[in-house]
Amino acid sequence: NADVAMYRVKEHGRNNYRFYTPEMTHMAIDRLDMEGNLRRALERDELQVYYQPLVDLGSGAIVGAEALVRWSHPRIGMIQPGEFIPLAEDTGLIIPLGQLVLRRVCTDIRDWQASGLPPIKISLNLSARQFRQDDLSACIREVLDETGVEGRLLAFELTESMVMHDVENTLDTLRELKALGATISLDDFGTGYSSLSYLKRFPIDTLKIDRSFVRDIHQDGDDAAIAHAVIAMAHKLGIKVIAEGVECPAQLDLLREFGCDELQGYYFSRPVPVEEFTLMLRQARSLADLERG
Ligand code: C2E
Ligand code: MG
Ligand code: MG
Ligand code: MG
Repeated sequence: NADVAMYRVKEHGRNNYRFYTPEMTHMAIDRLDMEGNLRRALERDELQVYYQPLVDLGSGAIVGAEALVRWSHPRIGMIQPGEFIPLAEDTGLIIPLGQLVLRRVCTDIRDWQASGLPPIKISLNLSARQFRQDDLSACIREVLDETGVEGRLLAFELTESMVMHDVENTLDTLRELKALGATISLDDFGTGYSSLSYLKRFPIDTLKIDRSFVRDIHQDGDDAAIAHAVIAMAHKLGIKVIAEGVECPAQLDLLREFGCDELQGYYFSRPVPVEEFTLMLRQARSLADLERG
């Protein structure tokens, strides 16, 4: 269950995460080897993909979603990605994990289309290790071919720190992803080693303003100025802007005033399991049908 608090009380070295739940501290200390657990989780189908809607600011329609992985551990309950993505990255398990998420996403896209829903675009997070994987685009192509999904229905989210090293390799990889038909989003924009030159140098389609700038946008004039300027600049460069972490209507109003394109945040929906997201898509469609009469 999602309420189980988790405390990572010790980290001895890179591959030695230990964590405890309050319950366990009452039991004769029951330790879990996180890496072994994650390895088994991959085999035992304990990882799930949740979807968080992306909402078009103009129409209010769901125009896409971000895929966010969850680990539902048989004893601990739901574990958030912040607790295991860094370990997956350190151990290389991020490669099979990423494959699993991609396969799940493409299967879901295929099922939505088969059930008559209009095509929907899904964003996937890539971590540094995946991005540097030599056969990344070949692996993606394989899953697209297997599932019959068009590459244009995928967006890949990268962070600034991933693209700043090794410009030539980055450019090659980005071009390969774009050759699949996918689009590229720059995630958590503003938190990394931001350099505006990336936006010019790399084929970035979308920029996601980090939620730390959105949080106080309605209370902090500096944050509002930054968000406004980022949106204006991105638009001049032909880049679409998504605001992350929208939680209240005051933030929405300002983002609308600034001309932001899409919104993501708890105000609309938390990340939800696929069944729930499918219902949202169906309801959205029947609403649209009603409006058309
Ligand atoms: P991210 O890519 O920046 O994802 C957005 C995070 O913000 C998600 O956290 C989402 O649940 C959270 N969020 C969305 N709206 C709001 C809001 O209104 N308020 C607040 N407070 N938070 C909001 P989550 O799901 O815990 O994911 C954390 C990070 O883990 C992601 O950050 C991403 O970097 C990474 N991650 C998640 N899934 C994957 C995956 O499949 N592969 C890889 N490589 N990384 C992943
Ligand atoms: Mg993301
Ligand atoms: Mg983000
Ligand atoms: Mg983030």
